This record gives sequence, structure tokens and C-alpha cells, in this order.
Amino acid sequence: MTALFEQYPSLHGRMPHIPLGCFPTPVQRCRRLGGRLGVDRLFIKRDDVSGTPYGGNKIRKLEFLLGEAVEQEKTAVLTYGGAGSNHALATAVYARQTGTKCIALLVHQLNARSVGRNLLMHLHLGTDLRFCRSFSSMRRKTLAENIRRRLVHGSTPYIIPMGGTSPLGAAGYVGAGLELAKQVDEGLLPEPDVAYLPLGTMGSAVGLALGFEAAGLRTRVAAVRVVDGSLANWRNAARLFDETNAYIAALDGSFGRYEPTAGRLTIVDDFFGGMYGRYTPEGAAAVRMMAETEGLRLEGTYTGKALAALVSHAGAGLLEGETVLFWNTYNSRDFSGEIDGLDYRRLPKAFHRYFETDVQPLDRGADSGEATV
Ligand SMILES: *Cc1c(COP(=O)(O)O)cnc(C)c1O
Repeated sequence: MTALFEQYPSLHGRMPHIPLGCFPTPVQRCRRLGGRLGVDRLFIKRDDVSGTPYGGNKIRKLEFLLGEAVEQEKTAVLTYGGAGSNHALATAVYARQTGTKCIALLVHQLNARSVGRNLLMHLHLGTDLRFCRSFSSMRRKTLAENIRRRLVHGSTPYIIPMGGTSPLGAAGYVGAGLELAKQVDEGLLPEPDVAYLPLGTMGSAVGLALGFEAAGLRTRVAAVRVVDGSLANWRNAARLFDETNAYIAALDGSFGRYEPTAGRLTIVDDFFGGMYGRYTPEGAAAVRMMAETEGLRLEGTYTGKALAALVSHAGAGLLEGETVLFWNTYNSRDFSGEIDGLDYRRLPKAFHRYFETDVQPLDRGADSGEATV
């Protein structure tokens, strides 16, 4: 059960929710990586194993979002992302578990091996994939699909926003913050001074900051921006924090009201590399370092950049004497068994390019030291 309902039992039944993941996710000490970085107390939060067959950060949000889709008796969900979107894939995986059709509208992104793997998994799942040339074409296709499904199936699809981020989706990460506080209470790790994670649509980092606040933890959130600053910025983060807080507090008056502060949530801007999905040298090095020291596979779009920030801050002496948590948001469940031997040519033609052109150079061999933990 999500820690949000454990601590605020009256929310159970008032918020839409279906259990999909396995919580709490483990926390582990990273002695080898910590040794390499000179961070004695370095821990990892294993949201990479948050569910089977597919882990990562999106399940916590989808428990609420798909819960609402089921509550509204929707037969289809529609969502958005880049061609290799982990969010679109997680949505497809768990929509299927709830008996709901998934339609994914995807825009182009730079090629990487994870893009091809995710697309093949969609093929395996039977996701209705549509390639979109632009964000305005996403909007047009959404309207057209609303009309079509109402006519043909009698109801519009449940719309899940990009990255699963809304006050309802972010509530999943408020629960994650409370879950960590409980693990600290149980003595599984000392109270972290800071937690590093990527900042995309912001639901994870903002929800976590609110969860830490509500739990009375002192842990700062270092949110490493991996998308354009016009999307992820302090103003939008503060608004999402407020809206999520207001939404939960309206349902349970014992949940406090908090102010978003820069001391609680810091946006780290220097590791983005100028474009979503573009691997950076520091990010690729961080991916390799994690594979070599802890045997865990990261990737260059999100988690490599978040770890690169941690590595750089450690090198600059900013984490001296601190307890540091790396929150792993990337799925580590192996689904190669499901996609081995699948023919990409059965995907819509617009997606063939991710199999017929090379991946970006920094992605070649970046996680070749990979093993499983
Ligand atoms: C989606 C995603 C993120 C970003 O989470 P947001 O809540 O959108 O900020 C981080 N890491 C990975 C691996 C993701 O797939």
C-alpha cells in the first residue's frame, strides 16, 4: 500500500487508486560508488524495481491516474511522450494490466538504444502508437481521437498528461517521500541531507519535496533538469507544489499546508546539455561509473544526468560529510525476453528510423559494463 494511505488513512477511498507496484522499494548503500566519489554515506533508492514487469518512477503516478481511469470506466487511455518515452511504455504496460487500451502519441527524439527497446516493447504490448510531427499535431490528434472513440466506442479516452504529471499523479511521489521517512525511522538508512533525481515534467521531484516536507524530514531535493527550462522551472514547480498540496489537504484536513522553498527543492540547471534526450559526456561517464561500481544500468536522458550532477558536486566538495541519496527513477527490469526477435517493421513506418539509423555516439557502449544486482 502507498505510504500516503498508511499515514493519512482517510485518503484511502477518497482518492482514485489501484495498486500496481511493489512498495516500499529497497534502499541500499553504495559503498563502491561512494568510495570512488569520496561520499562515505551514499545510498540508492531502488525505484528501478518498483514493479514487474516494468519498474521506474512512473508507476507511483500511474497507481493514481489509472485508478481514476478505471473509476471512470474508461476503456482506453491516451498519453504523450518522446519516441522512447519511459512514461508511455509504463502507461502501456500497466493499462494492459487494468484491461485498458493504450494510445500513445509520440514526438521525435534523438536516437538511443533505449528508444528502440521501448518501441519494441510497445509492439509486444499492442500499444496504439501514433507518430506526431509537433506538439500542435499532438493536440489535433487528441481531438480527432476523442471524437472517433466517442463515436465508435461510446466514450472518450482518459487523458494522461505528459510524464503522468498532474496534482493527482504527483501524489504518488508525495507517498514516496513518506515511504522514505518510514525507512529512515526503521533505521534502514540515516536521514539523507540531500536526494538527487532528474527533473522532467517535475511530478516526481515536486511530489517528493512535498512528501519530505509533510514527513518532517530535513532532506533537500536536488532536481537535475533534463528538459528545456521553459517547461521545468521554479515558477512551474512552485505552482505544482501548491496545487498538489491543496488537492491532498482538501481531502484530508490533517495534511498540512506548506510553502515551496528553494532550500527544500533546488533545480540544478548545469547538466542538461541543451536538448532533451541528448547524451552528455558527463552523463555518459556517470552511466559507465554506475555500471562498473554497482552493476546497475542507467541511461543518458535522465538518470545519467542526475548522477553526473551528484558526481560533480561531490568532486567540488559540496557534499562533504553529508548523507546522500541517489533516487533511481529508471526501470531496471529486463524485458529482453519479450522483445527478442520482434521485427520493428511491424511498427508504424515513422518509427522505423530508430532502427535504421545509428544511435548517438555517446550512447554506444555507455552501459556495456552492465550487470544485474
Ligand atoms: C520520466 C522520467 C523522469 C522524470 O520524472 P518527472 O516526474 O517527469 O520529472 C526521470 N527519470 C526517468 C528514468 C524517467 O523515465
